[in-house]
Amino acid sequence: MLSDIGNSHLAVSDPFFTGWLGATRQRLAALAQTPNTSLGHLETALEEELRRLGLAVLTEAAHWQALHTPFLCPVCRQPLQRESREESRQIHSTMGPLRAVRDLGWCVPCQGWFYPADHRWGLQRHAPASPRVQEMAAEAVLKMPCAQAEVTLPRLGGCSRSATTLHREARRAGQRALSLQREDQHRTTTAAGVAQLAAQAKTPDQPFVLVIELDAWNIRERTDWGKTPALRRKGQEPERWHWVYTGTIFRLDQRGHTAAKRPVISERGYVATRAGLEALEQLVYAEALRRGLTRAAEVLVVADGAIWIWNLVEDRFRRATQRVDLYHVKQHLWTVARELYAENSEARQWLRPLFHQLKTKTDGAAKVLHTLKDLLRSKADMTAVQREKIAKEVGYFTTHAKRMDYAQAKRKKQPLGSGAIESTCRQYQVRFKRTGQFWSLEGDESLLALETLRRNERWHLLFPHTIPAALTPLNPQPGPNPPAPGPTPITP
Ligand SMILES: [Zn+2]
Repeated sequence: MLSDIGNSHLAVSDPFFTGWLGATRQRLAALAQTPNTSLGHLETALEEELRRLGLAVLTEAAHWQALHTPFLCPVCRQPLQRESREESRQIHSTMGPLRAVRDLGWCVPCQGWFYPADHRWGLQRHAPASPRVQEMAAEAVLKMPCAQAEVTLPRLGGCSRSATTLHREARRAGQRALSLQREDQHRTTTAAGVAQLAAQAKTPDQPFVLVIELDAWNIRERTDWGKTPALRRKGQEPERWHWVYTGTIFRLDQRGHTAAKRPVISERGYVATRAGLEALEQLVYAEALRRGLTRAAEVLVVADGAIWIWNLVEDRFRRATQRVDLYHVKQHLWTVARELYAENSEARQWLRPLFHQLKTKTDGAAKVLHTLKDLLRSKADMTAVQREKIAKEVGYFTTHAKRMDYAQAKRKKQPLGSGAIESTCRQYQVRFKRTGQFWSLEGDESLLALETLRRNERWHLLFPHTIPAALTPLNPQPGPNPPAPGPTPITP
């Protein structure tokens, strides 16, 4: 059984500290007098010594924490039956590996063994990484490949961990992020869940516009790795590239400009999933609720012409104003212009009044559509291929004309294009689409969930120590318990 301070667990006694200070001073003095050493040598040596001291202090504090953790079942909160033995375990902390002892207890209602201290410490089951090490691994792996993180982390003063460990820890954090994401998805299927998400929205008193932008990019996976010949014999081509559906959600009043006139959005929500359109729809809905969907005076969806987007909008955001990205629309008109004119300057001259109509006239899209239809009727000298291409664009404008009211958008100072989601997709791709990089569905979905959680500023749900208030000392209440997935009993 754990016993109180004043025994062998008290690692940092006054003589220990005096001894440490003396040894450290001596080491630094010797280094300082060595030719060709810089301040960098002194810093590196001191960091090592501080960790040595830190490890002793941290071990002691971990013991206090274990001692002051109510001996309750972390699942049902009922008192545990204390086992007579105390058990020690190794924890990989930012100060180095430390050994800590804690009590084991049996929960009668749950019929399982628990270490309440493990739960309090924020350790994951069967994993020695401390919460700070878990967080460092997650942060590093989101920024760079594991092999690179292994080298970079210690250089930045972080913990020294192998690429395999970093990968495992990031994956573990990713799985936790993914289960939080699935809880959100589930919330969108019940009235109580929807109300719970909507209640989280912090919205201004004055009427506001909520903007939702959607797009997709693709990721390369090792699906059916090594099975290519077998699949081909069956007449199937292995699918390596898969869509990652992505969304961003913000209020119009959160959009502004930097001093250098660069557009910025002060606060916004993100969604990214490889799990298909149904998952995307639920996740966008959840994030929109959190950003004030139910209180918005107007909801605006901006995206390119992809049909899955508009089906999703009709399905879930029926009252939203729909807008196709102006840049994409212009590209479609360029396709027509290139069929009509060999010279760029001539094409441009033909396009100019059409672009002007689109941007300034309420019925601009209808006018453009009329022009295109007129071409098909009046230009007799076109080839069949040209005719087909132009007919295709007539189809595009017929489908989307109602989404092209750019004149009104300009009057309301709303975005004409989906630049915000395009830059979001680019940011995700910086990490997820590196040369020679392959993912597995399981791996990329959990890491996408982790990246999205961080972008949505909900990192503290995985790493409660990142809430500054939790670091305030003399708080008599124990810190918030780590969220789901909850602890599982230890099999005897
Ligand atoms: Zn229990």
